[in-house]
Amino acid sequence: MSEKKLVDPSHSRFLESLEKIVGKNFVTDRVEERYYYSSDPSAEEPCLPDFVVMPGSVEEIQDILRLANREKIPVIPRVGGLTLSGLAIPYGGGILLDLKRLDKIIEVNPDSMYAVVECGVTTGQLKTYLEENYPNLWFCQPHAPQSVGVISNAVIYGAGQVSLGYGVSSDMVNGLEVVLPTGEILRTGSCALGDSWLTKYCLPDFMGLFLGWFGTTGIITKASIQLWPKPSIRDTMFYKIDTVDDTVDLLLKLTKSETCDDIYINSWTGTSTKRFYMPEKPEGMPEITMDIILSGKSQEEVDLKKKMIGEMVEEAMKKGVKVEEFEPPLLLKIGILMVPQPLPFMDQMFGGGAEYLGCYIPIEATGEAYEKGMEIAKKYGFQYLHVVRPFRTGHVTGIMYAFPFNKKDPEMVKRLLNVLVEICDMAIKLGGVPWKPSPTVQKVVLEHADPEFVNFMKKIKTMLDPNGIMSPGQWAL
Ligand SMILES: Cc1cc2nc3c(=O)[nH]c(=O)nc-3n(C[C@H](O)[C@H](O)[C@H](O)COP(=O)(O)OP(=O)(O)OC[C@H]3O[C@@H](n4cnc5c(N)ncnc54)[C@H](O)[C@@H]3O)c2cc1C
Repeated sequence: MSEKKLVDPSHSRFLESLEKIVGKNFVTDRVEERYYYSSDPSAEEPCLPDFVVMPGSVEEIQDILRLANREKIPVIPRVGGLTLSGLAIPYGGGILLDLKRLDKIIEVNPDSMYAVVECGVTTGQLKTYLEENYPNLWFCQPHAPQSVGVISNAVIYGAGQVSLGYGVSSDMVNGLEVVLPTGEILRTGSCALGDSWLTKYCLPDFMGLFLGWFGTTGIITKASIQLWPKPSIRDTMFYKIDTVDDTVDLLLKLTKSETCDDIYINSWTGTSTKRFYMPEKPEGMPEITMDIILSGKSQEEVDLKKKMIGEMVEEAMKKGVKVEEFEPPLLLKIGILMVPQPLPFMDQMFGGGAEYLGCYIPIEATGEAYEKGMEIAKKYGFQYLHVVRPFRTGHVTGIMYAFPFNKKDPEMVKRLLNVLVEICDMAIKLGGVPWKPSPTVQKVVLEHADPEFVNFMKKIKTMLDPNGIMSPGQWAL
């Protein structure tokens, strides 16, 4: 593990300055506390921060950034640190800013359907608050542990249970308040005009300067997050399908029919109990299971949607598609309907490593992305585990390539990094974009990018963060 230490006496002088800003209880340079923030389950190198700081207000964040900017010390914002792709590792040392104390749900507007939240509000907190106060509303919630941030999920274009209907979480932001690396506050959206957090419409949209940048351009302190009507009845349908091509045919019809709330296409490896140790698929096991979630305001509506889906499947069968409906064990059914879903598959290998690279691809390229991902994994001696989820009625489709691995085995880590780089390259060639890429994968993305796009990123970064203090190692330009 690399540990960048600021040279004493500047270290203790800096510690004192941080203590003056946030109070002694909310800053630490003790190694056992810094260690917690030095890594994540991904294959990226761990690195210790010099300090961990937990600010309690926007003003404190401003003061910390002014100080860090003056002294040219790196600052890395983090809430859950659970992207599984090293996006909050403090690669340049410096100050790890744990944002969890900024945890106010400031406003919920049930009519225009949005919630204004601070940057430390977790998905579990917002879910509970809505269940208790506005049970007919919910938000785009990832199937991640509920200690992850609502805003940090929007920073990384995360997906949730409403994404097939309405898009990913970054689409659902009405406005932002941001502390810029030099300490000023910027508001974008209708909140720039006054106290309204209604919409991002009709003004130049500056949210793109902060979403997708992995903390390299500023710290979002508040956001208005769109809420959606929560369906009163939800149900499931499950299918086994023999081939990927057959699955894609069906997927194209289902997404456009607007009958489903969510569709999961899981490789067989996601359903087998021996998945990571079994090189070949057992005879007779279908390649794919497709889980469908649908909903309605009445049982009649749900029944009608189920009938329509059944008819689409029958039509596909008449054309030779091998597909079979099945009833899974009750526990699995209950789990699929939970938000977040319990996902047991990522923690099953000795050594504790888990990385999953997603790629947002064209729906029509799903088959190729699936097959090629499988080949790349096999080439490097990994079992593949793919999950496909279409978003926004199929405008874009997420394919997640998940890899548990032994973090203690450097040779295995190296092989996995090769897999991730090749998958990224493959997905871009198919017209896709890697989702929440790790720093290793970000480099491949930038190599593919038009030089003018990269130059423009550099200009923006230099304009907003002239001393390059924010999240070094992310989008290293
Ligand atoms: C079991 C499991 C299942 C998962 N399932 C899903 C899923 O279904 N859908 C999904 O979308 N994701 C999923 N994830 C991935 C991930 O956990 C989530 O996307 C989660 O929302 C990340 O949030 P976080 O708080 O951990 O982010 P962090 O790692 O804390 O932050 C993410 C990035 O944003 C930056 N950042 C954080 N806060 C700010 C801020 N206020 N201003 C500027 N930059 C900031 C950080 O520096 C970092 O670069 C899953 C993860 C696990 C472990």
